[in-house]
Amino acid sequence: MLDPFGRAISYLRVSVTDRCDFRCLYCMTEDMTFLPKAEILTLEELDRVCSAFVRLGVKKLRLTGGEPLVRRGVMALIRQLSRHLVSGALEELTLTTNGSQLARFASELAGLGVRRVNVSLDTLEPEKFAAITRWGRLDQVMNGIAAAKAAGLRVKINTVALKGVNEDEFDRLVAWCGDEGHDLTFIEVMPMGEIGEQRVEQYLPLSLLRARLAQRWTLTDIDYRTGGPARYVRVKETNGRIGFITPLTHNFCESCNRVRLTCTGTLYMCLGQDDAADLRAPVRASEIDAALDAAILEAIARKPKGHDFIIDRRHDRPAVARHMSVTGG
Ligand code: SAM
Repeated sequence: MLDPFGRAISYLRVSVTDRCDFRCLYCMTEDMTFLPKAEILTLEELDRVCSAFVRLGVKKLRLTGGEPLVRRGVMALIRQLSRHLVSGALEELTLTTNGSQLARFASELAGLGVRRVNVSLDTLEPEKFAAITRWGRLDQVMNGIAAAKAAGLRVKINTVALKGVNEDEFDRLVAWCGDEGHDLTFIEVMPMGEIGEQRVEQYLPLSLLRARLAQRWTLTDIDYRTGGPARYVRVKETNGRIGFITPLTHNFCESCNRVRLTCTGTLYMCLGQDDAADLRAPVRASEIDAALDAAILEAIARKPKGHDFIIDRRHDRPAVARHMSVTGG
């Protein structure tokens, strides 16, 4: 699948639910309204859409949300999808999770061919964790991460850089990830969805973060890529890797290889644009995949060149109205 700019689309991210057991300050409001069940693709429909993408050339599938591991039956979906790993059509099946359910599911995930997971973790301090996530408990997530490691899954920690919130912990996170053997990626906060707080107050450019890390750690740019937008450095002192995802300070769209499916079957060709294609209608209209395949190809043919996120005092509004939990971060 080639888009109009010649980029090969080989990566599908799927939000399997809009629900989450956390309410992170920068992601959701506390009183989010969730979608009615009838609008959500069933597990069978999710499998059908994902399988169509695999047939059309997707090599990497990432389940996200909301929190993917709180969707009832999600392990049955993962078991179904793992047949594409066995056949070799799919190179990687993975998840982005808040880690709250990993203690329960890590070994089953490993058994189904999942090799690595991204776990979102913004702080190592229990009270701060409770404050950021509103509903989360740090020990539960730490147990989940430990279970993932014990099951042989590679763990990458994703940390959103939040001004005045976790900026005093970046060195500690680098040291902890180094000790545990986890990669670490810092993410700039993106202007997505109304959250009832001033985005500009949270925004911390990663250029600043990197400059600060460089005062304590020896950082060397490396070529390592995971198929995502992160740029990596090696930390000499820990021999660990740190990635930087900088949608605002450095637009990464030129190498974009991905599209995103919501749990209602809406395909977004860009995280930061509103144009979308409905795949639920063709799925529900016919048991034969011809219309679904055609809808996918038509959508890829109008993938936009990129997003233009801006956060400053004049642009303290969401670039897109939907929350990250809708499109799946
Ligand atoms: N529940 C899972 C998790 O916590 O990883 C998956 C979904 S969550 C929406 C995916 C990632 O998006 C998390 O790392 C979260 O921190 C990040 N995220 C949410 N809203 C964001 C925003 N406005 N800007 C940057 N990252 C955001």
